[in-house]
Amino acid sequence: MLKDIKSLTLEELKEEIKGFGEKEFRATQLYEWMHKKLAVSYEEMTNLSKAFREKLGQEYSFATLRMVREQISQQDGTRKYLFQLSDGNLIETVLMKYHHGNSVCISSQVGCRMGCRFCASTLDGLERSLTASEMLEQIYEVTRHIGERISNVVVMGMGEPLDNYDNLLKFLRMVSDEHGLHISQRNLTVSTCGLVPGMRKLADEKLQITLALSLHAVTDEKRREIMPIANRYSIAELMDACAYYFEQTGRRITFEYSLIGGVNDSEEEAEALAGLAAPLHAHVNLIPVNPVKERNYQASGRASVENFKNRLEKRQINVTIRREMGRDIDGACGQLRRKKLKAEQY
Ligand code: SAH
Repeated sequence: MLKDIKSLTLEELKEEIKGFGEKEFRATQLYEWMHKKLAVSYEEMTNLSKAFREKLGQEYSFATLRMVREQISQQDGTRKYLFQLSDGNLIETVLMKYHHGNSVCISSQVGCRMGCRFCASTLDGLERSLTASEMLEQIYEVTRHIGERISNVVVMGMGEPLDNYDNLLKFLRMVSDEHGLHISQRNLTVSTCGLVPGMRKLADEKLQITLALSLHAVTDEKRREIMPIANRYSIAELMDACAYYFEQTGRRITFEYSLIGGVNDSEEEAEALAGLAAPLHAHVNLIPVNPVKERNYQASGRASVENFKNRLEKRQINVTIRREMGRDIDGACGQLRRKKLKAEQY
């Protein structure tokens, strides 16, 4: 298989082109064509010689995504994209427009092997992890499509990012590189179901990104019911890893907490959550669970969501309720892809 040129960092690209007899600055030009100017082919790269471009075309693959579908929410303008990868696999990407800028939610894997009970992405298990270029191209393709800059990226789509650690790291470095889109690391968020060794390793990289932990329960027992990963790591171990992340990076952790009616939305649980968040100065993001057809969980009612939020606020916890963006367009992770796959089966 040909090497994927868009997954090479600038340093790696400089090494690679040494063998081509080209000056080192050509690597920077090439890198900027791909990652800053978002070229879709070598043809556009007119300041590079034709011979050089032809050689590149022969020796490397040039990853592109094909937009299979775009759904625009009538409620809030959120756009959901279904992209096809070069091997035919499908992934989802979401664009949310906020007054402070455009935010893109990207996928890190095709499917997922974490098995969270309320999530649609994991229903068919893991197909494969995405390369750095496939993560980057989700942002590039949305940028080309809307003709506007993307200011925030959240790795909260399909997949468990820390289960694809090396490619994720490459992606984070490349998307914040000054020769690429140069998105501030402070505007990048990685969400994990809680792979403790990965969280600690990420802390040691000392990036300025936000780490979001999908907590969803305040006792190990309850967490094990809804998230199989809780059999591997306890909440105590998770809290230690969060404290370590904060210590190493100075960045506050976010807890994601999907409220499931009658499962994890009691007042006692709100109090216990406040107890976990306070020592870490963690921000809490409440998400009314998005009902997935194949699962029988229901979202908490509006009153219990408000009540839960108030309890946290009384304890001085910084809390937000995630806007339920794009619910009318299968906003929950993995739903659009499933629908498409199913339609093809019948
Ligand atoms: N694997 C990562 C990132 C992907 S999911 C993680 O677990 O964090 C992004 C967030 O959406 C996670 O907090 C996840 O638990 C949550 N989520 C998944 N399915 C959901 C649903 N049906 N309703 C509400 N939140 C959901």
